[in-house]
Amino acid sequence: MTKTRRWIITGGLAIAALVLIGAGFLAVPSVDDVIFTHFVKHQLRSGNSALFAGDSLRVLLCGTSAPFADPHRAQSCTAVIAGGRYYLVDTGPGSGRNLELWQLRGRELTAVFLTHFHSDHIGDLGEVNTNAWLAGHAGSLQVFGGPGVERVVEGFNEAYCLDQSYRTANSGTQMLPPSADRMQAHVTEMQGAPTLAKNRKSLPMHFGDVTVTAIEVNHDPAQPAYGYRFDYRGRSVVISGDTDFHPPLAVAADGADVLVHEAQSQHMVQLIQHAASDVGNARIAQTMADIQHYHTDPLDASRIADEAGVKLLIFTHLDPPPSNPLLSWMFFRGVNKSSNRAWISGRDGTLVDLPVGSKKIVVTTLQP
Ligand SMILES: [Zn+2]
Ligand SMILES: [Zn+2]
Repeated sequence: MTKTRRWIITGGLAIAALVLIGAGFLAVPSVDDVIFTHFVKHQLRSGNSALFAGDSLRVLLCGTSAPFADPHRAQSCTAVIAGGRYYLVDTGPGSGRNLELWQLRGRELTAVFLTHFHSDHIGDLGEVNTNAWLAGHAGSLQVFGGPGVERVVEGFNEAYCLDQSYRTANSGTQMLPPSADRMQAHVTEMQGAPTLAKNRKSLPMHFGDVTVTAIEVNHDPAQPAYGYRFDYRGRSVVISGDTDFHPPLAVAADGADVLVHEAQSQHMVQLIQHAASDVGNARIAQTMADIQHYHTDPLDASRIADEAGVKLLIFTHLDPPPSNPLLSWMFFRGVNKSSNRAWISGRDGTLVDLPVGSKKIVVTTLQP
């Protein structure tokens, strides 16, 4: 037997022995309990403090899919973090789970801003509110949106009121005050009379050093439909909401650091439409035809970013979701040719850090 072979056999036996000893330890209940307790303490201590560290405006994508189901994406949700607090733009289905996994349970949640009332943007509002209430959010969660937001909020409040009563009965009114579980709606109006160009904005809304402005976009027949601009100490992000190609958005996004824009690959949707027709699925074919007029192709979103002069374009609300490299290549075909602006395809967990007092843009990804 060669020396090398003897070393391999001896090393293999040593590893096997260690694995057996380790497995033996794990069979001892008290050892399991110590490891579990250590893990729980670590989780409780680590919390979400990294997301609030330093003085930055941060953008965290907590849902990047349109209504097409995708196993790795929740539906529309973007978190904006600044000044020790955070704000949500939309609460699409699945986004509450993402926020929970990243330990954004709602204590620091200042407000929710709804872009419009399609289900892929509001589905988790009840979950987000319940999680915030359970986490000890002070007072009622404030929810802003265009006219109609009061109906949406009232509906969720009603749907969750039995759940609230069970939990308060179980834990007491001091721990879970019933009034704090009821969200409060704020109707945000555009300034001035309606225009054909749909180029109005709301009055700025101030939350400490954070200023939020609602921007009119075009998602007819879903009306009202808003995007939102967040400004914080010289850094800024604009979130488009759902819209077709809408040049006034470029004016509202002028000079922003980051534009988070919805994107629908029109040629892929057309391919799905024709394929559905070919196999006799008229319902899918018509749905694909119906959605083409009120979303924005990636090339057009890129034009908006160019016009606005933003530093980074992030595509979100990806329809259909580009879940592998080939689909991604098809989805963004031509974007690099049409513009040399920095862009990324958003995914759940994409985190953009914009430190105050600098021009830096740092992109990382949070893992679930
Ligand atoms: Zn949508
Ligand atoms: Zn929509």
